[in-house]
Amino acid sequence: MNQLSPHPARTPALPAMADLLHTPHPVLLAPDAVLLPEGLAEGHAVVVADGVFRAVGPVDVLRRAHPGLDAVRLPGHLLMPGFVDAHHHLTQSFGSALAFGEPSEIFRRVWVPLEGALDEEAAYVSAKLAALEALRGGFTTVTDAGTRAAVDVGVVASAARDAGIRCVLGLVCNDVPDAGRPAAPAAPVAEAAEKHLARFADDPLIHPSLAVSIPEAATPDTLHRTARLAADAGAIVQIHVNEHLASVERSLVRHGLRPLEHLHRIGALGPQLLAAHVTLLTPHELTLLADTGTAVSYNPVASAWKGNAVAPATAMAERGIRFGLGTDGTRGDGFRLADAAEFAQRIAYGLATGDSSCGAGWTWLEHATAGGADAAGLGARTGTVAPGLAADFLLVDVTGPELALSWDVPWELVRRGNRDQITAVYVAGRLRLWRGDPVDWDGPALVEQAARLARATVAKAPITRAHPTSTAARERSRAL
Ligand SMILES: [Zn+2]
Repeated sequence: MNQLSPHPARTPALPAMADLLHTPHPVLLAPDAVLLPEGLAEGHAVVVADGVFRAVGPVDVLRRAHPGLDAVRLPGHLLMPGFVDAHHHLTQSFGSALAFGEPSEIFRRVWVPLEGALDEEAAYVSAKLAALEALRGGFTTVTDAGTRAAVDVGVVASAARDAGIRCVLGLVCNDVPDAGRPAAPAAPVAEAAEKHLARFADDPLIHPSLAVSIPEAATPDTLHRTARLAADAGAIVQIHVNEHLASVERSLVRHGLRPLEHLHRIGALGPQLLAAHVTLLTPHELTLLADTGTAVSYNPVASAWKGNAVAPATAMAERGIRFGLGTDGTRGDGFRLADAAEFAQRIAYGLATGDSSCGAGWTWLEHATAGGADAAGLGARTGTVAPGLAADFLLVDVTGPELALSWDVPWELVRRGNRDQITAVYVAGRLRLWRGDPVDWDGPALVEQAARLARATVAKAPITRAHPTSTAARERSRAL
């Protein structure tokens, strides 16, 4: 049976955190099983050295090939790739719940004012708080769509680096006024973009990217130039595309084209583009995505909380459209995100067509890891447990009642997994989190500082909310 065997009802003898932290490199890690692209491999192990997987294979084979290495047994654990968040806004973490109940296009009323009120310290703490939540949820990479805070983007890079998470870091290149950032002439935008793309060349955790908030926030010239600059640098451009009905209709009025079609006419579609959301898609636009190799971030929780529609991700998978899963800053739990990805497809499409499989579990796990890495431009670096790729991985405890009596580990991880089952998070071969806490910096102190700063920041931000808090909403509904 190609499944994990049930474990005895005792706590497995896992090495102490300190042992794993100070294990000399290279190291041979031998869990009960490793999650590989083709499925679960029981009795497999990995060799990690210099931050990458050097070898992956049956434990006996690796032991023979690496006689000098002691195997660190990890009983009761599955080793799997870390999750990749294909769409995040690290400097929005002070206000996550401010978006609850809000009608669409909240960036205008909540996010732009909130990020505009962040000073350097608040932007750093906010980004580090988001990184901590992401690591706790099993994300080893986050893709930041570009801060709108008036701080150097290096502040966000420092926060991600100090937290120990891999980060695809967007630089906002908007050059049309009233779209989330003051207008800037095209030439300085291109200059800043070029500098940004060269800035983190030797950084093992920070991967620069360009970003435009929405197609209407940049001139056609800038949309075209950012696409070319990113493509030449092997980087990506992040743009929110076809997310809300209002913006699709504005584009139709202005250009006679939907946003995705507009980008196509400009020449901005292609493998370098990571289009966030794309929930409102015509069959023709699905073909455009497939034909141009454009990548998508499917953000199911964002659809449920503040969207107009659910991206047709099962259809995208069928057509070979590249996509990852994104939180959009909603909540940082990779397992719950994969679950939401399946759940939203089932509710929005599967029920109507009688598709009870809806991707058969593995689809959402693959797109939450390798698919996300590919969409974020890091497919050759992370997202899979394979020799030569970064050792970005999780040790998942499979001895609890949710996973121990397993018949189908990949699908169970999607439907029954959550962050409580993550024992350890490794990024670039280094242990970063142990049972939810950072191992080399003070997570709880950061959370305390963030709570303090968040109150002060939100108090001075000109945020407009249409929906009251849940308790106030309850009182209002009674009074009506
Ligand atoms: Zn977004």
